[in-house]
Amino acid sequence: MIRAVPFKRYAVIGNPIEHSRSPFIHEEFGRQTGLPVRYERIQAPLDEFARVVSEFFEDGGGLNITVPFKQEAFELAQGHLSTRARLAGAVNTLWMEQGVLHGCNTDGLGLLNDLERLARAPYNKKILLVGAGGAARGVVFPLLDAGCAELRIVNRSAERAHELRQYMLGNMPEAASRLSAGSLAEVEGSWDIVINATSSSLAHTAPRLPAGLYRPGALAYDMVYASRPTPFMQQALEDEADHVADGLGMLVAQAAASFAIWHGVSPKVEPVLHALRQQLLAA
Ligand code: NDP
Repeated sequence: MIRAVPFKRYAVIGNPIEHSRSPFIHEEFGRQTGLPVRYERIQAPLDEFARVVSEFFEDGGGLNITVPFKQEAFELAQGHLSTRARLAGAVNTLWMEQGVLHGCNTDGLGLLNDLERLARAPYNKKILLVGAGGAARGVVFPLLDAGCAELRIVNRSAERAHELRQYMLGNMPEAASRLSAGSLAEVEGSWDIVINATSSSLAHTAPRLPAGLYRPGALAYDMVYASRPTPFMQQALEDEADHVADGLGMLVAQAAASFAIWHGVSPKVEPVLHALRQQLLAA
């Protein structure tokens, strides 16, 4: 008699959630690795995140967390957070170990993995990080930890950029000479990698940055992804950046890191990224 392998439940929780591409990504990873994966979208009421998480883990295997619940997930997994999650102040991956909820933030890993795919590993690079919200916060430690030569955080509200720098230095004071902060106008010199971690492209605009930002061979990276070059990517091309990329690769790579935490197997990013790009272009 052939017995069916039970499909363990996985899901992404957010509000809203219907736009999420995580089910497609994780089910593709499941097919690729031969692991049985059932992955759903769950829209939690804004004031009932903790209850929804608790009910899910009665039989669920792992959860991804997206807007606006990453900070709440961070609170729920207190005491059992990875360093990346602790320094990001946010959790996008939850799982249970011996009845205890654990949390990690894989966004930074996703970005590092995608920069490597684009042959722009951060080691020894001068990096300008535009934005000081949740996404920026999740990548500061991974970029410093990966050995970038310099990291400057600039934000529309300069105060937020300074606060983010102070917070990071509270945890890694040894990075003080490599980490600086300021306003969008306070950018000098040229950079190997400029990362747009703002949501400006979603509002069809680019951050107001000075011209002359890009060194020869530099990369402009927008965490937002789209079927066409984003406003930030267009601005970078006008500013003569040699390479531009959107955040679709980061999205797939952060999902791959979550998958590896839950299943102990690292899936291949490229085939899923290719399939997703085709979907985006066809939409
Ligand atoms: P937050 O709301 O926490 O932060 C928004 C940031 O964008 C702030 O720094 C804000 O500046 C800035 N901002 C918004 N509009 C403008 C503008 N017109 N000009 C300049 N700055 C602007 O959002 P998140 O940090 O969580 O997310 C940022 C983006 O990153 C989102 O669009 C999200 O889709 C993307 N993302 C992509 C991921 C991926 O895997 N590809 C993973 C995570 C996020 P201020 O502080 O001055 O308001």
